[in-house]
Amino acid sequence: MRRVVIVTLDGLRRDFISEANTPNLIAFSRQAQRFEDYRTVFPSCTRVVSASLATGCYPARHGLQGNSVALMEDGQLVLRDAGDPEFLQHKRRITGSSLAMPTLAERVKSIGGAIIFSNVSPGAAYAHDPDGYGHVYHRAGSFGPGRVPVSVEDRLDVTLDVAGDRRMTERFIDEVLAQRRPAVAVLWLGEPDHIQHEAPLGSPEFFEVLAAADTHAGLVIAAVEKLRAEGDDILLLIGSDHGHETVTGIIDIDAELVAAGLKAGEGSTDVMAVSNGTSALIYVHPDHAGIIPRLRDFFAGQDWVGKFFGLDQLETIGQRPDGGLAFAISMAASDAPNAYGVPGSSLAAKPSMGKPDRLGCGQHGGLAKYEQSPFLMVSGAGFRPGETSDDYARIVDIAPTALRHLGLDASGLDGDALQSVPVEE
Ligand SMILES: [Zn+2]
Repeated sequence: MRRVVIVTLDGLRRDFISEANTPNLIAFSRQAQRFEDYRTVFPSCTRVVSASLATGCYPARHGLQGNSVALMEDGQLVLRDAGDPEFLQHKRRITGSSLAMPTLAERVKSIGGAIIFSNVSPGAAYAHDPDGYGHVYHRAGSFGPGRVPVSVEDRLDVTLDVAGDRRMTERFIDEVLAQRRPAVAVLWLGEPDHIQHEAPLGSPEFFEVLAAADTHAGLVIAAVEKLRAEGDDILLLIGSDHGHETVTGIIDIDAELVAAGLKAGEGSTDVMAVSNGTSALIYVHPDHAGIIPRLRDFFAGQDWVGKFFGLDQLETIGQRPDGGLAFAISMAASDAPNAYGVPGSSLAAKPSMGKPDRLGCGQHGGLAKYEQSPFLMVSGAGFRPGETSDDYARIVDIAPTALRHLGLDASGLDGDALQSVPVEE
């Protein structure tokens, strides 16, 4: 039986993978093909990556522009947190679709289905299957086909920490891999992302959690080996969704815009800067589109802006100017090390809701080197065991790779199947 198993260690930077830090991943790399030029999407945020991984498309096509976004509702721009459990259901009512491209869960619904176990934000979990074709398990609610809640005993009630990841992993192995055996099984661990937002990269607390995440990956690797020995043809993809940079400063972009006379006032909806960690999406209400050239000049002159992309450049980063999106900003970043000698520092954009990031801890969302350096290792048919590949690979390649393993059509997506060895059809 052909199956695909996808494991994500949320937020793990490629350069933290080593014999000392992640012995299980290093052992796996001897039987897997390792992609050393693996890139994520913009913004490099979990909800956007989840939607891009599930659809094989960039935000320009699936339509989830950020971890937080502005939606045009009744003629007004409204700030929305895409992590909210109801966000994609709300977005469907407002825009006509939750995600505008089919997910893996939809594509495999009649050939074994998909089961997703996720321990990150509700919005990121549900982005794998917002329209209810398979099963999604999350502490905010677990759903089967038709988005019907599962029974009380079947819920996934786990905490967002190492202990919760452990319980989720054990259940995933015993129940999903060994018994229910879906065509696509996804295990999305909350660590080491969660600790990196709370403690400095390279700190003792960080390494302790990283070791646990590596152990959890090791449990899945061993379980898949056992199933393969029993005859299952499993493609196992283990990777991360983005890396982290160390936050060295917080910029309140809305306040900067007000001070520059480019936004009416705090909380006004003519121009809105929506923080996505170390990046920001700038929305302009169509009635105020005349201000766009002045905004462009303003961003070009700010030292807190690393890179910015206007209306005609959004496409180059996988976005498009829908719903008032006018600019995307990746905050200024450098290779400067943090207190523990870990390279990669960035400014972060202050969120309008919620608390700002902790200085000296990790964040992501932009285009800087380390947040754009997730890892990927793949074992199974079509991949060369033990080989390190310098080929360019992307988050959007995961869905086409999974579809190819399952013998399904993967044409017309933004990504390409990564199998380099001819696979028996
Ligand atoms: Zn993440």
